Amino acid sequence: MGKTGPLVALALVFVAASGAGYAQDDAKHERAFGRYVMATGAVPRSQLEAIVHLGDQLVDVLRERWGGDPLYGRGRIVVRVHATRTGYLRALDRTYGEGASSLPSIGWASYCGGACDVCLQPDERATLSTALHELTHVVQTRLCGCFGGSVWIWYREGLAVALSQYTVRADGRARFGVLDRPVEIQRSRAAAQRVAEIGYDPVASVRRMWPLDYVEAYALVGAMSRLREPDLAARWAEFEKAVSEGAHEGMTFVRIFRPHRLRLAAAIRRVWAVDGPPRRRP
Ligand SMILES: [Zn+2]
Repeated sequence: MGKTGPLVALALVFVAASGAGYAQDDAKHERAFGRYVMATGAVPRSQLEAIVHLGDQLVDVLRERWGGDPLYGRGRIVVRVHATRTGYLRALDRTYGEGASSLPSIGWASYCGGACDVCLQPDERATLSTALHELTHVVQTRLCGCFGGSVWIWYREGLAVALSQYTVRADGRARFGVLDRPVEIQRSRAAAQRVAEIGYDPVASVRRMWPLDYVEAYALVGAMSRLREPDLAARWAEFEKAVSEGAHEGMTFVRIFRPHRLRLAAAIRRVWAVDGPPRRRP
């Protein structure tokens, strides 16, 4: 889902100040671009091309991760990009019901509907990251099912934030899940501690919608993907595979990791120590 995280909060401010009116019926003015991208209003062609270019590569990455093909089979996926904030908010009301447009956001995905909406940002890279974030949610839903409400927020959002961070090589190939902005990852030792604690006590994560913020969830998923202990890394792979087959995320995490929770917490801290989160002393 698309609550605004710390990584995008700044962009939101600019958008709020620049929302021009778009009075026509937006749905009638949608135009398709690529296999699953739709544009509403005057979205620059270069922006749409960039979303298709990176989005196609991200779909391939997710297809390898979970197997299956999100573009065929269980209904199509759609990424709608809106040129104006008013058009975006109207789409939220139309697609996700009342309430969605009242929360501050620049992107929104339906966990079961296969669609997401993205509001064009002044900064092309911010729009791209938002599109990749929401696309991750949509593809995850298509490939892993909609989980019937057993949504485990830190895994979903952490993964979406991680995969929306990317670098592009000279040949145009992208690498997703780049943990190269440690300043955003760890704002305090206390946050790191909380992440590690909730990481092995996911009951709290299930009961409360937002026990971690986006940056913390990102840090945790990133760390889980970089565990250096082979048996713990294998358990993380086992967790992701079970989830991709429709298992309840929280229950599965407890089953796989609870017996090893102390070692896991230590291993997460070791990853952070090496991968660069600043360890400021209080
Ligand atoms: Zn999200």
